Amino acid sequence: LLRIVGLRKSFGPVEVLRDVSLVVETGQVTCIVGPSGSGKSTLLRCLNRLEVPDGGAIYLDGLLVGVTEKNGRLYEMSPKALATQRQAMGMVFQGFHLFPHMTALENIIEAPITVKKQPREEAIRSARELLRKVGLTEKADAYPQQLSGGQQQRVAIARSLAMQPKLMLFDEPTSALDPELVGEVLAVMKQLAQEGTTMVVVTHEMSFARDVANQVVFMDGGVIVESGPPAEVLSHPRHARTRTFLARVV
Ligand code: ATP
Ligand code: MG
Repeated sequence: LLRIVGLRKSFGPVEVLRDVSLVVETGQVTCIVGPSGSGKSTLLRCLNRLEVPDGGAIYLDGLLVGVTEKNGRLYEMSPKALATQRQAMGMVFQGFHLFPHMTALENIIEAPITVKKQPREEAIRSARELLRKVGLTEKADAYPQQLSGGQQQRVAIARSLAMQPKLMLFDEPTSALDPELVGEVLAVMKQLAQEGTTMVVVTHEMSFARDVANQVVFMDGGVIVESGPPAEVLSHPRHARTRTFLARVV
């Protein structure tokens, strides 16, 4: 579904991503782990072009992300074409970024109605189904400030899902939460994984990675040091850097 080839990104003199290559298959969960500053967020942000990479290529369903090829040359995609590609990738961040003046339900139906031109009734029906899925049937009419952090994050997940993305990107979705609220969000993500949602998850939750990931990617210093099934990368890491990192987080 997603193929990243030789991705590079610098901020000024700082090389944040150097030659990152990665494949994500449909229906699979990829967890990206690694120390602070290793480039995890930058990688995710390059995927939906919140950052413009300096080199390399990203293919979604075989099509280049953000650029079009004409007569052997690459051009920036039109904003409209880029917006369509971005819709295919739902993104959930550490903060919840819900619209504060809208109820949970209104947050979820906003994009389907305005962007996808979905009929309101239909959008409401899907939104209620999504609220059920994230365990918030009772909270449809609550405003964000009336919800706990865990509940807000579950609404944010439902809101992303409402656009029916091909792929969900999560950047440390639980790290802003009080410890007792982390589990409910991870449970929702685990359920999505079991339903076959393709997900790329940057996380420090090693037990989630161990349980749910098909593929664990360890990044350090802007490169992928190693990747593979959790039983290999997390339980039998081949590289000293991975072992050092794991010894610190577990
Ligand atoms: P964390 O675990 O702390 O979230 P990370 O692995 O997500 O870390 P990134 O946020 O991708 O790391 O940052 C990688 C490096 O790039 C850091 O050194 C950071 O300071 C730098 N960086 C990120 N974004 C920018 C930016 N917009 N401008 C300049 N430097 C940046
Ligand atoms: Mg980050």
